Order: sequence, then C-alpha cells, then structure tokens
Amino acid sequence: MPSRREIMLGGAAIALAGSAPGAIAQVVATARQGQRAISVLSDGSFEMPLSMLARDVALDAIVSGTGRTGPVTSVLNVTCFRQGDQVVVFDCGSGAHFLPGTGKLAASLEAAGIAPDSVTHVLFTHLHPDHFWGALDDFDTPLFPNARWLASRREIAFWSDPAIYQRLPEDRHAFAAGAQRIIKALGDTLEQHDPGSDWLPGVAAFDTAGHTPGHVSFELKDADGPVFVLGDALTHPVASFAHPEWRPASDFDADRAVATRRAVLERAAAEQAQVIGYHLDGGIGRVERAGTAYRFAPAR
Ligand SMILES: [Zn+2]
Repeated sequence: MPSRREIMLGGAAIALAGSAPGAIAQVVATARQGQRAISVLSDGSFEMPLSMLARDVALDAIVSGTGRTGPVTSVLNVTCFRQGDQVVVFDCGSGAHFLPGTGKLAASLEAAGIAPDSVTHVLFTHLHPDHFWGALDDFDTPLFPNARWLASRREIAFWSDPAIYQRLPEDRHAFAAGAQRIIKALGDTLEQHDPGSDWLPGVAAFDTAGHTPGHVSFELKDADGPVFVLGDALTHPVASFAHPEWRPASDFDADRAVATRRAVLERAAAEQAQVIGYHLDGGIGRVERAGTAYRFAPAR
C-alpha cells in the first residue's frame, strides 16, 4: 500500500507534467526581501458580479470607475516565504468545497517545489472560505501536517460564537459552519494571537478589521523596507485603490472597512511598501498616490 505521502507525491508528478502554459498550478510572482525568498502561489480564481464591488453605487458608475463591464475575475493569491528553517504560508486557499476554479493551492505548492510537510507556520488574515477552507485536504486532514496555525483571537471568537447565525445573513451561514468545522479539526494546533505584536520573528500582525471583525494584515519587516501581506483589506486592483470609499458587498462592517482601506493605502504609499493582496491580480506591487486616491502598481 502506498502511503498518503506517496500518493500525494505521485499526484505532484502528474501536476508538474501538466505545468505547460494554461495549466492551473502556478507561481504568480517571486521576490527577495533580505534573507526571505517570497513566492505568491495561485489557488485559482472565481467570478463574481461587478455590482459586488460597491453595494451603494449605480452599476454605470462602477463601470466608469473601473473601466470594466462584465463579471469580475477574482484571483486567489497565497503568499509563502522561507526564512532559515521556517516555511511560512499566509492563508491557505479554498480547498475542495468552495467554488469551481478554486482549490488549486496543493498543485501550485508542488509547482513551486514546496512540500506540504515542510511548512512550519500558517498565518491567517481572516477565516473566510477562500482563505481558510484549504486548511483541510481532500482527505479532510490538515494540508500541512507539521504546521502551527495562527489566527486572530477576535476572528476565532467571532466565527466560533454559537450566536453567529443570528448575526449573519442566511446566505453566509455556510461560511460559519465551514469555519467552525475547520476550527474544530485543527484543535490545539490552532493558536490565538492579537494584532499589534510579532507573530513570528520579523513578522508583525496589525489590525485591519472591517472586512471581518478580526481581520489582520502582516508586515514582513526588513531593513530594505516592508512587505505587507494584506489579505482582503484591499480586494480589487482598481476599485480598492481608486475608490477606497466604495463599500464592497463582502465587507462585514462596511464603514470600518473603508477607514481601514484608507489607512492601509496611506501607510503603504508613505512607507513605499511592497504589498500583496489576496485578490490583487499582479502578485506583488506598490501603492502610488493618484490625485486624491491611489493606484496599484504591480512589480511586473
Ligand atoms: Zn478573500
């Protein structure tokens, strides 16, 4: 009988053999920051209606504000880096049970040469399905068997609350059920931490609540300048930058999310930080001021 690891390695060989142009497994971007080798890996993408970019804005204003007409393709970017003997992953994709076109992280890890059992830490920005459900593999066991999992104390408390179902619209109840199932499966390996502190040496979490009540972002600190891993503090490469005041349908506390977006954009522009957003096509980039707002300048 082959072990599960051997089965997965066999699967990797198939994935690599298929890694011709157009294959789904992919490394979106790579960068160096001091001693860190940073990779942005794809978990795939999904489509959503344009109207979701701004719940109180007329569709024609969204079209003229973004230059887009059809549905929005939202990419899923998982950030990884190696630092000494640590292999750190930020958020972990959608797994097998979310939306068609997602759940490609395992194949992208293989394409990047990162073995799941080598991953030492997984840091979560928040616990939405496209960031958290990939914590369990197709066998319903942790995708990274040797990892410590770190999430915001406030975020875990929000999703774990039995009263969550009264606080969320019915079409979001599956988000809560999924989060509770995975929180339970990870058990004691899921650690609770607070923003405003280093979660790992050189990796500080900062409060970016709004999209969810316990949303955090991360600053990878280095003498050459910071890299911000922003999760869903910014969710669209045009709308979030040119119109931070828009209220996307996916934000839990829309007013707070607007204030967070403005603060993150201003700080990233002032510090000339490199930024990685989970849904920002282009991988790694910078925030540039543009008139009274901002624009995303991808590195490539
Ligand atoms: Zn997301």
